[in-house]
Amino acid sequence: MPAEKIAEVLPESRDMTAVYPGERETGRVLVTGGAGYIGSVMTKLLLDAGYEVTVIDNLVNGHRSAVVPPAKLVLGDIGDEHLLDDILSKERFECVLHFAGLIVVPESVTRPDIYFENNVARGVKLLNAVCRNRVPKFVFSSTAAVYGTPRKVPITEEDPLFPESPYGDTKRLFEELLKAYSRAFGLRYCILRYFNVAGAYAGLGEDHCPETHLIPGILRSVLHQEEKFQIYGDDYPTKDGTCVRDYIHVYDLCFAHLLAMRALNNENLIYNLGSETGYTVKEVFATAEKVVGEKIPFEIARRRPGDVPVLIASSEKIKRELGWRPQKSLEDMVRDAWEWHQTHPHGYPD
Ligand code: UDP
Repeated sequence: MPAEKIAEVLPESRDMTAVYPGERETGRVLVTGGAGYIGSVMTKLLLDAGYEVTVIDNLVNGHRSAVVPPAKLVLGDIGDEHLLDDILSKERFECVLHFAGLIVVPESVTRPDIYFENNVARGVKLLNAVCRNRVPKFVFSSTAAVYGTPRKVPITEEDPLFPESPYGDTKRLFEELLKAYSRAFGLRYCILRYFNVAGAYAGLGEDHCPETHLIPGILRSVLHQEEKFQIYGDDYPTKDGTCVRDYIHVYDLCFAHLLAMRALNNENLIYNLGSETGYTVKEVFATAEKVVGEKIPFEIARRRPGDVPVLIASSEKIKRELGWRPQKSLEDMVRDAWEWHQTHPHGYPD
């Protein structure tokens, strides 16, 4: 697809289209977890860029109505090798983008078994099917949680990996599996380590149950006004005592996947995805009050176990190598999320 065409289908990405080297192959891709928050936005961007998309999702945490047509939804689990063989053998897939997985850190502490089962054991089934059916490329949703408490910020891709939760362990283990499968089968992979993803895009937003994330949590407290919003700790060694995180808009994040998939040819890739800017919880809260246009009640609660004081990405590598630039600000993220929550006060219908 010519770069001008991509500019048409991805209207908000004009600055980035220059990085596409002209003609581009389109093809068929499989998105695991494509009914979830990030997977659904990814599916939308892939469709808009000209790909044919098949989604596999067990709908345990995903939503049927988050899968945008004409993407095809296959209801099933990534641990079902027969189903995967059936999908992958019928048509030629050029890439699998793997979003399916469990993501709640505290839950991974109380139930590590289901995290190892879902994120690792079933991931092995997926990788076996991918290699058996000779899908050449694989893009993996990893996380800043693989770094644990950083010795320094911004965090670069070369920094040591010391996950501090079973969730982080499962992501690190899957990264290792990708390296091993690449050696064994020649699979080309890209690992993308996400920092704090937020915002909404094209009618697709964040609908987790329970909601543990900061931005949707604040917005839901405004809409439902059941309980005061809790800020987990104001005694961290930061400028206002609350934790600092690096927020990235889901659109910018998914756009980076398109670039990474395009660049995945002769060597494997690993990139951090963040905006390289840190905001405290109180700063995010103040942004939400500005967007919502009212004071939002809150209380200071105890620290949440496992929260580290400061996480900020260096995204210098993907900027340098792929020309990626985040386009959207924290205010854009909160505004887009607020619009989505107002139009979906009870989340997706199904
Ligand atoms: N946070 C908070 N109250 C909430 C949810 C989150 O104070 O109801 C804080 C949390 O302690 C962390 C930051 O907001 O410092 C971001 O948390 P989130 O769960 O969104 O992402 P994480 O960084 O844990 O992946």
